Amino acid sequence: MQDNSPAQPAVDLRGVVKRFGTMTAVDHLDLTIRSGEFFTMLGASGCGKTTTLRLIAGFELPTEGQILISGQDVSDIPAYQRPVHTVFQSYALFPHLTILDNVAFPLRVRRLPRAEQRARAMAALEMVQMGRYGDRKPSQLSGGQQQRVALARALVNEPTVLLLDEPLGALDLKLRKEMQLELKDMQRRLGITFVFVTHDQEEALTLSDRIALMQGGRIVQLDTPANLYNAPQSLYAAEFIGETNLIPARMVSADHGSSVVEALGQTYRAEGTTASAGAAVTLALRPERVRREPAGTGPVGELVEIDFIGTDLRLTYRMADGSKVIVRQQNSGGIPPAIGERMPLGFETDSLRIFTS
Ligand code: ATP
Repeated sequence: MQDNSPAQPAVDLRGVVKRFGTMTAVDHLDLTIRSGEFFTMLGASGCGKTTTLRLIAGFELPTEGQILISGQDVSDIPAYQRPVHTVFQSYALFPHLTILDNVAFPLRVRRLPRAEQRARAMAALEMVQMGRYGDRKPSQLSGGQQQRVALARALVNEPTVLLLDEPLGALDLKLRKEMQLELKDMQRRLGITFVFVTHDQEEALTLSDRIALMQGGRIVQLDTPANLYNAPQSLYAAEFIGETNLIPARMVSADHGSSVVEALGQTYRAEGTTASAGAAVTLALRPERVRREPAGTGPVGELVEIDFIGTDLRLTYRMADGSKVIVRQQNSGGIPPAIGERMPLGFETDSLRIFTS
């Protein structure tokens, strides 16, 4: 008979609170992480993401609430017996052991037969394309290679859940980008649940199936990367994820779903929070959704700054009221616009969102 019941969640946090003295680091968190997903906790420093990860790992115990891993309450299970493994930013490899022995270490602790230790450590090294380096010492490897070894050591015990605490934070940008792709590929191949912590929104968008954006120990939005980017539910989310134009506006008429606002001397229809007529609100709009329209009727801006960002041009226009609007357009290789140009700007209204300011 086919089993149509939803898969058991990998991790379930129910009403979890963590206080350090009077400081609440994690504030009544309810969170279900699905089996096999790449789940990211994202937020500014101090938002509680590392504490949440440490609670799942068992390095901290909750002040209140319950944590389940694969349906089992782990409250009384010490960290080393939980079916999870944590990879930290610092690789924490043993300098005096070879790479192979480093990876085999968790199996040695479990007193598995030596031949099995070697075979499984070797297989884990192969998984991260480090099979050739088994005889070396950590100091003979680059940072990226050492982090691959740390990953292999995490995988060798075949954890149900891999917890990753800013694992790419110590790598330079190019290597970081390469490792991001490798991590994502590895997660797909192995089907292990990854719970990833980062403060880097671009990294979160690239890697994740779902993202929990955190602030003050709470989740402010839990969504797919596309939804978080295209339909932020708060001003905080709009500002934290990607670049956003925030345009002062005034409510003209509120309607269900779509309202009319006045901004930069024009009226626009937009979605989002409603407020009473006349109230000051903020319009949020991504720079790639603003167009330069020479024959348009939109508000006119004066180009005051041009930034070349490889594939894109980032153009900053000063509007009549002194506010700035950023336009991002593809760098098509032609002559770029000149500083000082005056240009009507068209807003793609389907992506305009209203937030109460
Ligand atoms: P970062 O990106 O800087 O690591 P974070 O979002 O991971 O930040 P946490 O490390 O979870 O944040 O910390 C959340 C809050 O709890 C912070 O205000 C921090 O100072 C506090 N905190 C964390 N650990 C402790 C501790 N052991 N004792 C006291 N306060 C702590």
